[in-house]
Amino acid sequence: MASDAAVIIGAGFAGVSAAFAMREAGHAGPITIVGDEAHLPYERPPLSKGLLTGSHTGLMPIRKAADYAVAGIALTTGASATGIDRDRWRVELSTGHALAYDRLLLATGAAPRRLDLPGSDAVTIHTLRNAADLARLQPAFAGARRLAIVGGGLIGLELAAAARQRGLAVTVIEAGPRVLGRGVPEALASVLAETHRSNGVTILTGVAPASVSAAGVALSDGRLVEADTIIAAIGVTPRTALAEQAGLAVAGGIVTDNMLQVAEGIFAAGDCAISAHPLFDDAMVRLESWQSAGDYGVAAGRNMAGQGQPIGVVPWMWSDQYDLGLYTAGVPAAGATTVDRIEDGLVTQFQLDPSGRLVGAASLGSGTSASRGIKIASRLIAARAAPDPGHLADPSRPLKALLQ
Ligand code: FAD
Ligand code: NAP
Repeated sequence: MASDAAVIIGAGFAGVSAAFAMREAGHAGPITIVGDEAHLPYERPPLSKGLLTGSHTGLMPIRKAADYAVAGIALTTGASATGIDRDRWRVELSTGHALAYDRLLLATGAAPRRLDLPGSDAVTIHTLRNAADLARLQPAFAGARRLAIVGGGLIGLELAAAARQRGLAVTVIEAGPRVLGRGVPEALASVLAETHRSNGVTILTGVAPASVSAAGVALSDGRLVEADTIIAAIGVTPRTALAEQAGLAVAGGIVTDNMLQVAEGIFAAGDCAISAHPLFDDAMVRLESWQSAGDYGVAAGRNMAGQGQPIGVVPWMWSDQYDLGLYTAGVPAAGATTVDRIEDGLVTQFQLDPSGRLVGAASLGSGTSASRGIKIASRLIAARAAPDPGHLADPSRPLKALLQ
């Protein structure tokens, strides 16, 4: 334990946030981040937005290269962690080297689900998770005329908006009864679906893809969606293989307590982790959002530096589509009742648990207008408030007043 070395596996937003937070919290020993991508760690959200529409060029680094040097954080990119030897407190790398650790963070993220259908082996089905995927998709986008997107979740719809901005004909195929069935209230999802339709996107719901070919995607009801480019955006699977091999608990993610600890000296954060959340009665929650990856990364880094604090942050996420911004906060409970608030073109839905406590909120409006209400909702959720539903629903009564 003399060197007090920290190793972080995964150079995404959670891993990088943890490394800097650990240093800022006073950890004096070596910190090494190991990432299997070759790039300086970069932000993922622009991959499905500006980097496809062409409004941004170049990957957006999470931190400048010089910041790592200044903070004394070693960055090993283009190398995978291939094993964790818990008896010898070492991480084995694809380079043949091994790194000794006293504290280890698993921040391995998630991988896209693959669309495995008859014909999948013979045609390219794109997914979008990282820079390598983007490098394959960009030229396909540039040459495409007709795009079929399987999956009407966040990536599917953001890609649809980007493709319409590039003038492509777009069909979204969603097997469920509506788009954004996971975590976005129907009232808001239907406004977004209408916005897509009015921008020329064809959205097919309640129908599954049956096979793919050079002609496009054949559907289970016999129709063919003609397409020269096919993208699968059907969700992700947390990357847990290393944790499993090391005998750590995995159940829908790498299992942590409410301080993000997995086992002695080992922590996990970001898309790969499922954690007990103290604000929601220690419910096990796995999040897939940029903000949460950063917040949980910071919390893990501080706890790896010895702070020992339970997670205090309210999960939230956003999505940009056309000129609309969608924001959600909290963790809606099963059996939650909903309260709608409509004001100045903003649609907000609050979720109250059976005791009346606010546990979730979602809002949709132009630009970033919906973020204001969600920030207030986050503060109310953090305070375990049980706001008056009449006040929440009444646009003439400011939400801010509920904070007093
Ligand atoms: P990741 O970002 O996946 O990073 C994990 C890293 O670990 C990866 O680089 C991976 O290759 C590496 N790794 C895995 N295993 C190993 C190993 N054994 N050895 C070494 N390295 C390893 N969220 C929002 O809230 N808003 C948005 O608008 C938004 N847009 C998005 C757009 C796209 C296209 C994508 C893909 C995601 C988007 N997200 C958005 C989600 C958000 O980016 C993720 O939740 C966040 O990046 C998760 O961060 P992470 O660090 O946990 O995982
Ligand atoms: P997602 O949001 O989970 O959506 C996947 C969608 O595809 C779901 O609606 C799912 O329906 C549907 N689906 C699954 N299998 C299908 C099939 N065989 N045929 C047709 N539809 C199918 O995942 P995603 O859009 O792929 O995004 C991937 C990751 O990126 C997620 O972690 C997401 O949070 C993240 N991301 C976040 C943002 C953001 O926060 N703004 C933006 C982009 C990406 P069921 O739910 O019924 O399975």
